[in-house]
Amino acid sequence: MAEVLLDKVWKRFGDVIAVQDFSANIADKEFLILLGPSGCGKSTTLRMIAGLEEIDEGVIKIGERVVNDIPPKDRDIAMVFQNYALYPHMDVYNNMAFGLKLRKEPKKEIDIKVKEAARILRIEELLKRKPKALSGGQRQRVAMGRAIVRNPRVFLMDEPLSNLDAKLRVQMRTEIAKLHERVATTFVYVTHDQTEAMTMGDRIVIMKDGLIMQTGTPQDVYDNPTNLFVAGFIGSPAMNFMDVVVTDDYHVRKGDFQLKAPEEVCKVIDEFNLKGKEVVMGIRPENLEDSEFALGKTEENTFVADIDVVEPMGNEVFVYFNKEGVNFTARVNAKTKAKVGQPLNITADLSNMHIFDKETDKAYI
Ligand code: ATP
Repeated sequence: MAEVLLDKVWKRFGDVIAVQDFSANIADKEFLILLGPSGCGKSTTLRMIAGLEEIDEGVIKIGERVVNDIPPKDRDIAMVFQNYALYPHMDVYNNMAFGLKLRKEPKKEIDIKVKEAARILRIEELLKRKPKALSGGQRQRVAMGRAIVRNPRVFLMDEPLSNLDAKLRVQMRTEIAKLHERVATTFVYVTHDQTEAMTMGDRIVIMKDGLIMQTGTPQDVYDNPTNLFVAGFIGSPAMNFMDVVVTDDYHVRKGDFQLKAPEEVCKVIDEFNLKGKEVVMGIRPENLEDSEFALGKTEENTFVADIDVVEPMGNEVFVYFNKEGVNFTARVNAKTKAKVGQPLNITADLSNMHIFDKETDKAYI
């Protein structure tokens, strides 16, 4: 068993609070992602699990053991960094074997472990090469190999793909996911890339300014963001937001623009007494469609927009427009006849509409 528990963990660097009151229960064999913008505290959290940073308050457990005061080498973890940190003068075999040699493991066993890791990572033919004779992706695999041979209870990875080009990143994403299946070990993975987070993780912890904003499965944080930050951070292109007033007849309105709230939202409006209140409406680009291709089109969910930009993506088209001073993005059918400077009827699928509180940023729905 190698579950990892963080209970009310804090870390300060002088006046900077890097991590505040961080709690998470990472299950055995789970793939957990720490996601957030630069400086939000994700690396510090990972380094505290590794034992590379001391914690100021709270408890960290790996398996049954509290590790607060246990040095990194005794935590039974392996960490893969962004810059791989390979030894330049050693060949791939020795880079992978080095940690085991230090531990004075028998040569024969080291050989079995290195060859097995090389097989898993498909780098068997590279074992005699020095790091400088490897591509970025190959170096990345060697760094992973070095972690695998140690057979750790927890893998910790800090932006391991950020030095790779876009194509290789996509490929390595799949490989790391497969590796996780094969080694069946707990993974904690830091990234600022939401696509990595959405495609690789069992669960995502989204952080901002040292605080957890939301923890959930990729689908859950996408479908049910609990606050404005998560709603805006997850999803590309980003969710559209508009400050609106809730009217007595269950519309959300800004100037001449208004949409009728669907039944689910009406219930929320009643429950939280939102009539007459200013709130933030959120709607994802894929829920705005060229009316010509929209299902469930009614007068109440359709409006005219003057199109500012049309971006064909091949399988779909992004159209950009402005309503009452707010910029919107819509992902519409590839066959759209949308033209810059011309009006287009847009139909909103309001069943996925979100409403946020203006003061607290919290989601009502
Ligand atoms: P990035 O994606 O840029 O690596 P991050 O989310 O991993 O960012 P951290 O590296 O954990 O963020 O940093 C969190 C905060 O703590 C930042 O404000 C950072 O400046 C600060 N910080 C981190 N390490 C130290 C340190 N050794 N001394 C002082 N401040 C630090």
